[in-house]
Amino acid sequence: MLIYFSVRMGKHVHIKSFGCQMNKLDTALVRSALDKSGFTFTEKVEQADVVLINTCSVREHAEQRVLSHLGHLKHIKENRPDMVVGVIGCMAQRLGDKLLEHDAVDLVCGPAQIPQIADLVAGALQDGQGKLAVTERIRQKPPEEQTQALEKFESAYGTLALYRESRICNLQFRIFSPGQAFVRVMRGCNNFCSYCVVPFVRGPEVCRPPAAIIEQIRKLADTGVKQVTLLGQTVNSYKYKSGERTYCLADVLEMASDIDGIEWLRFVTSYPSREFFDPMLQVMAGSPKVCNYLHLPAQTGSDKILRAMNRNYTAGEYLELLEKARTTVPDIAIAGDFIVGFPAETEEDFQATVDLVKRARYKNCFIFKYSPRPGTGADKKLEDNIPAEVKRKRNTELLAVQEKVSNELSQRFLGKQVRVLVEGLSKKPHLDSAESRGQPQLVGRTATDYIVVFNGPQSLAGQFAKVKIARTSPLTLFGELT
Ligand code: SAM
Ligand code: SF4
Repeated sequence: MLIYFSVRMGKHVHIKSFGCQMNKLDTALVRSALDKSGFTFTEKVEQADVVLINTCSVREHAEQRVLSHLGHLKHIKENRPDMVVGVIGCMAQRLGDKLLEHDAVDLVCGPAQIPQIADLVAGALQDGQGKLAVTERIRQKPPEEQTQALEKFESAYGTLALYRESRICNLQFRIFSPGQAFVRVMRGCNNFCSYCVVPFVRGPEVCRPPAAIIEQIRKLADTGVKQVTLLGQTVNSYKYKSGERTYCLADVLEMASDIDGIEWLRFVTSYPSREFFDPMLQVMAGSPKVCNYLHLPAQTGSDKILRAMNRNYTAGEYLELLEKARTTVPDIAIAGDFIVGFPAETEEDFQATVDLVKRARYKNCFIFKYSPRPGTGADKKLEDNIPAEVKRKRNTELLAVQEKVSNELSQRFLGKQVRVLVEGLSKKPHLDSAESRGQPQLVGRTATDYIVVFNGPQSLAGQFAKVKIARTSPLTLFGELT
């Protein structure tokens, strides 16, 4: 709205983002939309007129971190009552008007309402009144106007976000590494795994039209993007019916592979289902651009717990999918997710998980302690009866099992040359001064998602480089530019 334009000009926004890649993408879109509307950005909360927090609800811990951040902002607001604090994302949708009752919060905006963000912020700055924009009936198919508004927002800012980021932010505050972008192919999720809050905060699955996805990737390629990661909660079940034809993920990957300038294509996260699994592997095997990497969460190795989690496969079926993946794409790297301490998980159930992790030979695993989420099936029907200490012990044990596998897999790279896409400066110092030879320490990833640390000029960020591996740790390869 034009009347708000003068309110926006020169106002400084600080955005803090929690959570997964979906949230990172939403943060980049929001930042880009606010930039277009005349706001400017600051990395310092103390200088901000507006603070936005993009939130995650997947585990209680993630929500606790946001609440403690809001506590800190409440203190700042005591001296600066005009500062506008907004909560956006999953927690905004989950808690809605309850969040507006928090002393620090002026604005609450769910993931489906982000196209309204500039007007909501400007409105709150103008009249000092609380603003609430969330979906009322989150489990119903979203109205067509909402889907269209999100599509318009995504198409416009999905491409611009990258350019604006490079203009707005220091490298360390950027969401996308140079030369890389995320492109959402679907929103929401229909699976209702019994532990998971996602369907309750992101709503039902809606797949984006392939033409819009491809157009966005083409525009990104025109701006110099080399790697695109396609995002979806169950990205491999992407399907879009257009006339007589139904497009699946393999079709999107094939079409995206034809785009000049795009060199690597990734997709996360996959669901262990046979549907569309073969075509996805075929395109990975056949296209040099589709990275040989699969993130395929198993969650547990116990069939009893899988049933209680409402995951529609057994451990045996899951291992068959891995086998198929490795036969079709021999050098594929696979990552997993596990939840330990799900209600009624016995030692025997846990040992089934340990066994699965040993057999799956993941490149790496994300291991989480079960966290009951209000409103989910597990929270309503099952008691969170595994003591915190047992959850912690199982988490540590599983990490140790995976670390051994990761170490063995990493060591296979010793003495080999790998091609990496350079992300930029490495955040942690890994190399000693003799190894670094006075050059900055860079980090990049292989097509199979291995993290590689080496020294080289910072100008390599966003470029491909070849590195000879001299040393390995479970999760990182170290080497020299060749
Ligand atoms: N859509 C993806 C999938 O199905 O694998 C990812 C969903 S979730 C954002 C990422 C991971 O968080 C899940 O794979 C699961 O391991 C973990 N997770 C989800 N809900 C959880 C809960 N209530 N407690 C602990 N971990 C949870
Ligand atoms: Fe959550 Fe399951 Fe959907 Fe993944 S597939 S987002 S774990 S409900």
